[in-house]
This record gives sequence, structure tokens and C-alpha cells, in this order.
Amino acid sequence: MKQTGSDTIAKVEALFKSYMKEEGLRCTQERLSVLREMYGSSTHLDADELFVRLRKKGVAISRATVYHTLDLLFRFNLVTKIDLGHKHTHYEKSWGVTNHLHIICLKCGHVSEATSCELPELMETLCVGHGYSLGSFSLQLFGECADKEACARRISNKHKEKT
Ligand SMILES: [Zn+2]
Ligand SMILES: [Zn+2]
Repeated sequence: MKQTGSDTIAKVEALFKSYMKEEGLRCTQERLSVLREMYGSSTHLDADELFVRLRKKGVAISRATVYHTLDLLFRFNLVTKIDLGHKHTHYEKSWGVTNHLHIICLKCGHVSEATSCELPELMETLCVGHGYSLGSFSLQLFGECADKEACARRISNKHKEKT
């Protein structure tokens, strides 16, 4: 996933504000900070990680607001939900981001992003065939690292982080 430029963030903020207005919701600084953090990051985040990041930056936000805002962003098509094989959902920015799929190692949890020009076409065909128009897509493939050494290293690094 590419790093997002400030012009993209400005556009996404304008979209978010107009959607919020349509729904009669107040566009608070806390809600905007969730959007900015998602678009300022180039990784997949879960709600808790996002919450911790924002608190570290001094944003006075509650966990509930983070969850609620992510739900709104998802409904407005500004973030996608992805299942990386954990129990909780990960979120990723989606506006202006090339549709891609994730390949996830079931052992170490390493995530790679892949795209192919045939992919959107295929998804489009499938969608249209079932009577839909394609918005965005999020695809996950689960497997195991072919590089067993690198995989083992990642697993031991994770254990170190926890202790
Ligand atoms: Zn991704
Ligand atoms: Zn692995």
C-alpha cells in the first residue's frame, strides 16, 4: 500500500465531512483524528491499535468512539474491513487505494499485499454476473511462508515483543 499524500487526506476529510452532514452527525475532532490516523498509516490496523496510537498522540478519545467512527468510515466506503485470521477485524484505508489482496501466513501472521491487473476485471465480471456493481474489494489468501527460516524468526520476534 502506498503512503497517502496530504492532498488525499484533504479530499477524504471533505468527503467524510459531507457524509456526516448528510447523516446529521457532528464531525468532531476525535472522529477526524481516526480518519487522519487511518490515512496517515500504511498498514492494517485494528481498533485497539488505532486507539493506542491516538492516545499516544494525546488525542482524548474513547475506545467506543474509535469503534463507532470506524463503523461510519466503513459505511461511507472510506475504509475496508479485512480478516487477517485473528479474532478481531483489521481496517485499512480504501479511498484512492488500488484494490489488492492480502496473503497471510497462518503461522507467523506475516501479511503481503498483491495485486494484478486481471483481478479488478475478474471481480467486476463476478459482481455484474450476480447483479451488483463493484465498489471495492478485499480478498485474503491464507497460507504458510515458503521461507521457513524467516517465518520462524518472525514467530520468535513476536514472543520477544510479548515478554
Ligand atoms: Zn492491504
Ligand atoms: Zn510465516
